[in-house]
Amino acid sequence: MFLRLVLVVGLASLGLCATYGTIQAVPDIKWDFIIVGGGTAGSVLASRLTENPNFNVLVIEAGPTNEGVAESIIPGLAPRAALSRYDWNFTTVPQQGLNGRSITLQRGHLLGGSSSVNGMFYTRGPASDYDRLASVTGDAGWSWENIQSYLEKASITDNHDVKGEFDPTVHSTKGKVAVTPPNDLNPAVDAATLQAGNELGGDFQFNLDMNSGKPLGLCVLPHLTVFQATDLLDSVRLVAVDDWPRCNAQ
Ligand SMILES: Cc1cc2nc3c(=O)[nH]c(=O)nc-3n(C[C@H](O)[C@H](O)[C@H](O)COP(=O)(O)OP(=O)(O)OC[C@H]3O[C@@H](n4cnc5c(N)ncnc54)[C@H](O)[C@@H]3O)c2cc1C
Repeated sequence: MFLRLVLVVGLASLGLCATYGTIQAVPDIKWDFIIVGGGTAGSVLASRLTENPNFNVLVIEAGPTNEGVAESIIPGLAPRAALSRYDWNFTTVPQQGLNGRSITLQRGHLLGGSSSVNGMFYTRGPASDYDRLASVTGDAGWSWENIQSYLEKASITDNHDVKGEFDPTVHSTKGKVAVTPPNDLNPAVDAATLQAGNELGGDFQFNLDMNSGKPLGLCVLPHLTVFQATDLLDSVRLVAVDDWPRCNAQ
């Protein structure tokens, strides 16, 4: 199993960061934190912990590196990661709602985890889910109101006319994670779809911004998070591990 391991090491106190392919290659030092899984949550956690220069953090990832993996770098190729070595190749138990069929369940098996292969849509849950989480855990920090400061870490940035595509009052403009409204609208199809939704009414009605805490309804499209590759006018995936400034500074 170790042959498939990618071990990512943030040596913040020494100002170093390195990736190792085997457990034997990892330096024998005292690790303050060991994070199992270099996916979305693990990467963000490693990034935050190494903001403290006194911490040595070891991240252990089961999959291979994401470097140079076209299926991950080029957003349109992400579907090709399914059932490949970059996928855990999970299969569900038979689903009652699917007439007893089992289906494949994709999960990222590489550095960056599922953020390396996901659809890149920027979606927040309903406010009621967060409030329920706060109630069930007894931790008010999870409430919709109290997570707002974290939601502000993502911000809408775009230079096309985005009027009517989202509600600017529920988004920050100063966050670190770039979120862009879609650039590939189809006015004829979109207008007909939204009109049909409005005719149906209720939960199908037009919703200016499904990230407002009230996600039901039809909206133009959820926003995509992309990293604009500066001079190529191209878009490449922004993966959770890209949030390791102390490593990326190497
Ligand atoms: C195909 C696909 C499309 C998606 N589209 C969207 C979207 O458009 N918008 C959206 O918001 N969300 C989307 N998601 C969901 C989102 O990507 C996930 O919810 C999120 O990435 C989960 O983060 P995580 O840290 O919990 O898990 P992951 O990011 O999956 O990270 C888990 C990591 O742990 C590693 N690991 C597991 N077991 C071990 C072990 N024993 N030892 C070492 N490492 C281990 C895995 O290899 C993986 O790297 C999508 C997910 C998939 C799979």
